[in-house]
Amino acid sequence: MIIVMKPNATAAEIKNVENSIILCGLFPHVSNGEHVTIIGVVGNKKLYLEKNSPESFPGVEKVVQVSESYKLANKKFKADPTIIDLGDGVKIGGDNFVIMAGPCAVESLEQLLESAEAAKNAGAQILRGGAYKPRTSPYAFQGLEEKGLEYMAEARERTGLKIISEVTSVNALEAAVNYVDIIQIGARNMQNFELLKAAGRTNIPVMLKRGISATIDEWLNAAEYIMSGGNENVILCERGIRTYETSTRNTLDISAVPVIKEKSHLPIIVDPSHASGVRKYVAPLSKAAIAAGSDGLMIEVHPNPACALSDGPQSLNPDEFIQLTNELKPFINLVGRKF
Ligand code: PEP
Ligand code: MN
Repeated sequence: MIIVMKPNATAAEIKNVENSIILCGLFPHVSNGEHVTIIGVVGNKKLYLEKNSPESFPGVEKVVQVSESYKLANKKFKADPTIIDLGDGVKIGGDNFVIMAGPCAVESLEQLLESAEAAKNAGAQILRGGAYKPRTSPYAFQGLEEKGLEYMAEARERTGLKIISEVTSVNALEAAVNYVDIIQIGARNMQNFELLKAAGRTNIPVMLKRGISATIDEWLNAAEYIMSGGNENVILCERGIRTYETSTRNTLDISAVPVIKEKSHLPIIVDPSHASGVRKYVAPLSKAAIAAGSDGLMIEVHPNPACALSDGPQSLNPDEFIQLTNELKPFINLVGRKF
């Protein structure tokens, strides 16, 4: 349930509503929008309505029931888009556009620094690189683990890029919080509820990838797990879903972008690399993502894709990546985004 205040509601009227919620042992979620303040009631709203008639409180415009099970991630709870500020002018959401780029996996310091250089030269603001790799085969390269995170931090030191890396377990999360600017939770762990809850107890932004076969509502409920733990800095990432089509690794659900924009205030990034699995489709899918309203892109870049330990066929080399960002700039300008 949400309580929408009148545009001219006073601070005392807002406080009065908040107190009425706290007095029932519930949690008021206050969102100060540009024009109006919205107060969400999180918890047993029946209990609240037995003791209160919020419609009659001074300064209250209306009371709206939220039928969806996700509340904090719901646009009804917060009309303005969430903007995640990573510092040094790097922001995700609103009218900003970000590009995250780098190798699928951190393989060595040299490989990572070359990738970071390529990312920076092409204008990306965030370096990606997996230190804990969720591989289909147990015999495939599993990542450098904490050493990989150390290399990521060194690459940030040298380039000034922000860094994002995936965690596959609570243990990995506990290590990663000491290094990264953004925690990535991958498709395979979208419904790893213990991991989501642990990420919710941190104060580091979390990028939550859509599960391989997850509906949008399941995805938003997964985001709700993180947010309800106290960490509201969540970024969504559409990375393709499993369908009957075999020409591409997954099927990019481009409609997820406008659907998320309608249902949630959270920023959404598109990952055309994992969505397609094919290098030559990364450019057209990136353009589609920009046109659909994506807040950014995550793209795999490797100094020598032919020798990559994972996801080489979908990775761009540094020259291809510069060419791509140059091609994308007019599209980003056209939709009025800052890049
Ligand atoms: C990745 O980004 O390296 C990754 C494993 O992606 P996903 O979780 O989308 O498969
Ligand atoms: Mn990958």
